Formats: sequence, structure tokens, C-alpha cells
Amino acid sequence: EAFNAAVASARALNAFIVETPELALAAADAADAARAAGHTLAPLAGVPIGMKDLFATEGVQTTAASHMLEGFVPTYESTVSGKLWAAGAGMLGKLNLDQFAMGSSNETSYFGNVISPWRRNDGGNAALAPGGSSGGSSAAIAARLCPAATGTDTGGSIRQPAAFTGIAGIKPTYGRCSRWGIVAFASSLDQAGPMARDVRDCAIMLEAMAGFDAKDSTSLDLPVPQWEAGLSSDLRGKRVGIPREYRIDGINAEIVASWDQGIAWLRDAGADIVDITLPHTKYALPAYYIIAPAEASSNLARYDGVRFGQRELPEGAGLQDMYAATRAAGFGDEVKRRILIGTYVLSAGYYDAYYTQAQKVRALIARDFEQAFAACDLILAPTAPSAAFGLGEKSDDPLAMYLNDVFAVPASLAGLPAMSVPAGLNAQGLPLGLQIIGNMFDEQGVLNAGLAIE
Ligand code: GLN
Repeated sequence: EAFNAAVASARALNAFIVETPELALAAADAADAARAAGHTLAPLAGVPIGMKDLFATEGVQTTAASHMLEGFVPTYESTVSGKLWAAGAGMLGKLNLDQFAMGSSNETSYFGNVISPWRRNDGGNAALAPGGSSGGSSAAIAARLCPAATGTDTGGSIRQPAAFTGIAGIKPTYGRCSRWGIVAFASSLDQAGPMARDVRDCAIMLEAMAGFDAKDSTSLDLPVPQWEAGLSSDLRGKRVGIPREYRIDGINAEIVASWDQGIAWLRDAGADIVDITLPHTKYALPAYYIIAPAEASSNLARYDGVRFGQRELPEGAGLQDMYAATRAAGFGDEVKRRILIGTYVLSAGYYDAYYTQAQKVRALIARDFEQAFAACDLILAPTAPSAAFGLGEKSDDPLAMYLNDVFAVPASLAGLPAMSVPAGLNAQGLPLGLQIIGNMFDEQGVLNAGLAIE
């Protein structure tokens, strides 16, 4: 009875779209057999992993939390998930997310929102958002349903949900993890990464996920470092930059206090704290919300009712009607908003005014970081401007929702590795996250600073 009650309360979080316990058990059995036979165990032998439902999994429904892909069962495995299985892990299930990874609260999912396992301690019992888009991943780990999960991060979708639920998550350098077999949102920004309870688990998992893949033209052809072996919280000789432009209006006092606390922790770990400037920060969010929808409008053109998933074929409909009916029924409101914005900013009369302009801003933001990294080795900032907000609080206000990504998108636009680590609780008992941004390829520095904080 107690077991059934625990299962019911776990399911009430709505973190999983599909459960595949038989796959997780098979991996556990394989690990047991390997141990019994005296074999050396693979790094993730028998570890049950939650898979964000944006990764194509052979023989298991892959939906991107959309109606459009409901019932789509890939005949192939994404490179990253395949690498995890090769490292001995087993899949516990496919995790809920914002539809096509567009959102910051997991409320745009066709399969319903995910509920964070956290509650405020001040009597306010309102259900909280687990963050997004990797909200199923963050909730499942925070609720201890699985020790680790995959996430993807286009503009914060690993880091912000990690911060909202008191777990760790790293978006590696763009190109570290293959995008092959991941449902594309904005290809120049999309990166996979691990989410787990702590930094060490993230390091172990990232080692299994990363590596060159000829099937992804933007894959980095670099060896995968031994991040776990390289972990050290001794930051002597490291300069940590504090970007003054991140002290924006509207940032909560508790976020500033946690940032100051993080600075103190890094100083205790031996780091030198330096003031840095990232002058184009205020243009990052508007640039992101032009570039990401532009790429999305192009990527999502493939959902035409012919090749994948759902098809709506009204009585007597021609091809154009079929396209229109399929896309009208298959995509949710937020996805349609992105397609409309993206199509608009790419259209003949507006391309230069919006898209070209945003690309120039993106280059300036990348240059800001390049210059900053001449004066520091790592950057410390908040992950999000607030702790977890309530479900429904921002869902009718897209701009308020987008503003939550303000600290996450600059590193995405620049392709830099960035991590959120748990940094304590606020006065209401809710977790706060701190973000460490590293220079290109410096996941090790990011992980080490994360270790010094968590
Ligand atoms: N919240 C951002 C968006 O809605 C980022 C999403 C993501 O990183 N996938 O676009």
C-alpha cells in the first residue's frame, strides 16, 4: 500500500511521458551479470537514467511533448542516448518537457505541466514550476525518481530548471555533444548535457555523452577530457569575473545575496575575484528571441503531416489543406508564436532589420566574452533572476516568461560552457542556483568552480 502510494505521488508530478522500467532493469541485470563474471564495469553500469523526450530513442515513442509527434516511434537512436547505453546506463523513461523545448516552466507541454516536488515553507502551498524546458528532468531528479537525466539547453533549458529544483546541470561547449537524433529547435544553439544531483555525477555523465560524431556537422572534433578525474575544488590561481551588467533592475534581493555568498565561497576556495564588463548583455535576450524563433521556424517546417507523426486530412482536402490542418492541430500556441515570429523576422522586407541585426549582436556578445576571458578564467552569475515561480504565474505573459532567461541566453549565444549548481535555499525554503560560465572547451574549470560552490 505504501509502495503504491509512493508510486502514485511520484506519477502525480507528471515528469514522465513514457515509462520504460524494463529497459532500466535490463541494464541493472547486465551490470549484475558483468560484476558476477568479474568484468570491469562500464562507467554507468546499471544506472537508471531519465531521457528528455527530445532525444530519438529506437522503438520508444519520441514526442518533443507535442501532439505533432504523438505516436512517433523512431527507428534510430540519438547519438547521445546511444552513448549512454553503451556506457551501461538503462532508460527509465521519456521525460516531459516544454513543447519542442520552447518554454521556461514546462507549461507548454501537450502532455500537461510538470509539478516541482518543492513547496514553499511559508504556508503558500501553490504548485511550483520545475523550470523549463527540461522540467521533467529536473523534477524527476529532485524527487529522487532517477539519479540523473539528460537535458538540452538552447537558451537555458538545462540550467534554469536545475536552479529551480536544487540540482546541478551543465551545458557544455556548443558542439561537445552530438545533436544527431535530437529534435531540432534552434540548431546553432541546441546543446545536450547532463542533469544530476551533484557536480561529480554531471562530470561522469558528460564524459559518456560527449565526443565527436561525423553525423553532426557542428560536432567538435576534440578528445573527451577526463572531467571526473580532473575534479578539484582548489581554485587557487583562478580569476573569477563578476559581470557588472548582470546586476539588472528587477533582480530579486535574495538572488543578489546568493550571488554575494557564491563570491565568498569561491574566494574561500582560493579564487581571485575580479570585476568584469560584458557591455552588450542587455541586447542578448532580444537577439535570442529573434535567432531562436528564426531557426525554429525553419526546423519545424519538416512537420508537414507526411513524414512524421500526426496527419490531419479533412474530407476532400488537398495537399495545402492537409499541411495547414496538420500544423494547426499539431502545434501548441507557444510553438505557433515562435514560428510566426521566426517567419516574420526572416521575411524579405524584415530580414535585415531583425535577423541580420540580431546576428551582429550575437557576434558582439561573443566578443564581450572573449575580451572578458582575457581578464578572468571563469564567470560567476545567478542562473535565473528569481527562485521557482508558481504554475500559472507567467503562462499568460510570454514576455515575463522570456525575461526569466535573461542570465542564461548570453552564454548560449556565445556557445560557451555554463553550469548551474545548487547554492542553498531562500527564505521560503526554495532552492537557488548559481551559474558558472567558462571559456570555450573549459568544462573542467566550470565543473571545478561548481564543486567549490555546491
Ligand atoms: N526558455 C528558452 C526558450 O523558451 C530556452 C529554451 C531552451 O533552452 N530549450 O526558448
